[in-house]
Amino acid sequence: MASTQVRLEQQGVHTLLVQFTDVHGVAKGKYVPLSYLGELVRTGAGFAGPSIWGTALPRIGARAEYYARPVSLDAIRPMPWQPGYALATGNGYVDGQPFEACPRQVLRRATARLAERGWALKTGIEPEFFLLKHKDGQWLPFDDADRLDKPSYDLKSLPRQAPLLHELHQALSAMGLDVFQLDHEDAHGQYEVNFAFDECLASADKLMCFKLAAHAVAERHGAVFSMMPKPFANQPGSGLHFHVSLWDAQGQGLFSPTESQAQKGHHLSALGRQFIAGVMAHSAALCVLAAPTVNSYKRLVVGESLSGTTWAPAYVAHGPNNRTAVVRTLPGRFEWRLPDASANPYLATAALIAAGLDGVDRQLDPGPACTDDLFNLSLSEIALRAIEVLPQSLDEAISALEADPVILAALGDTLSQELPRLKRAEWLSYARHISAWELQRYAATF
Ligand code: GLU
Ligand code: MG
Ligand code: MG
Repeated sequence: MASTQVRLEQQGVHTLLVQFTDVHGVAKGKYVPLSYLGELVRTGAGFAGPSIWGTALPRIGARAEYYARPVSLDAIRPMPWQPGYALATGNGYVDGQPFEACPRQVLRRATARLAERGWALKTGIEPEFFLLKHKDGQWLPFDDADRLDKPSYDLKSLPRQAPLLHELHQALSAMGLDVFQLDHEDAHGQYEVNFAFDECLASADKLMCFKLAAHAVAERHGAVFSMMPKPFANQPGSGLHFHVSLWDAQGQGLFSPTESQAQKGHHLSALGRQFIAGVMAHSAALCVLAAPTVNSYKRLVVGESLSGTTWAPAYVAHGPNNRTAVVRTLPGRFEWRLPDASANPYLATAALIAAGLDGVDRQLDPGPACTDDLFNLSLSEIALRAIEVLPQSLDEAISALEADPVILAALGDTLSQELPRLKRAEWLSYARHISAWELQRYAATF
């Protein structure tokens, strides 16, 4: 510990940002002077437990205190966007014990289940996001000149954000994220940053670090960094795809097909096929973790005229390099296309593991690979193929979660109660509000 303190002092750090993640996937934390590192490691930084979403902690007594303790000393790194400050990602503790409803602890439990079998899950998380501005009461793309009909990979708008993206890239590299691509995505003001895949807990930590950095760097450039899944109705939304692979202790990829499986056209091993079958079987409940907001369901739209141009999956199918399905298989791994940018990466990954393991334990079969462009099919053609459609509202997804003991168990005692409760309240607040659309459509109509 003393050596960490010396290292950080030499790096010009005077203050630590002890950060944890709440149930909504939002970073929370406190500043702690570097001289208090010892106490931070022993006890943690204290927070009023009941004021943190989803903890259901009492207001009084020992269990009213929530502590965040750094997950590792080596991982504490100076944040280039805030000189003098270093980020210490934290785990939640209550009453001296790992707190079961801390999202990072939820994922630790899930990875421990894998470790019992000698397995580790790796993920590559792909954040898509918007750069916005708030002007005259309206949310708009940050870049007024970003107006092309089809802006994917656009090389006119991308250079205008190059200074911002470069600063972000530099900051992420200094934090240990190996950035390998940055591009303009398919909507006005939308971008994506890709960094190398890693062990799933590390990937979730990296995503949270990415969000912190991106908020700060965007603000410095006068923009608002947004992980809202679908800010504009007539533009694509922001996904948070997960590239998923499973490994044994020797570093063998367990999803890699044998030669004969590959010859049969399979991208995945038998184990991999069972895993995706589990992910598909639990898709409806997984939506609450992967597509957790009211707004998420404006992204997961069905019907050829809607989904065809947004690339967001709405159908529970898997297929080789099939971006129109919820599971796109690639040799030795799959891309889980369900999550959107508002997902809590810890909870989404923990639920994904629970679903996949259930598929393995029940030896589920994912069914035949889908080679159709699902965006081109009508809903009746989808139904003829017995392909399920993802929930089309948060309300539907919550009901599916409430009926799914496998995913609820993965969340643990507290979150399995709190998450549906909080999400139901969010849904009701939305359902009961009267929108501008309703007034325009109905006010003078009848
Ligand atoms: N923006 C799309 C989504 O919401 C994904 C586009 C892509 O495949 O990169 O999932
Ligand atoms: Mg993308
Ligand atoms: Mg992708």
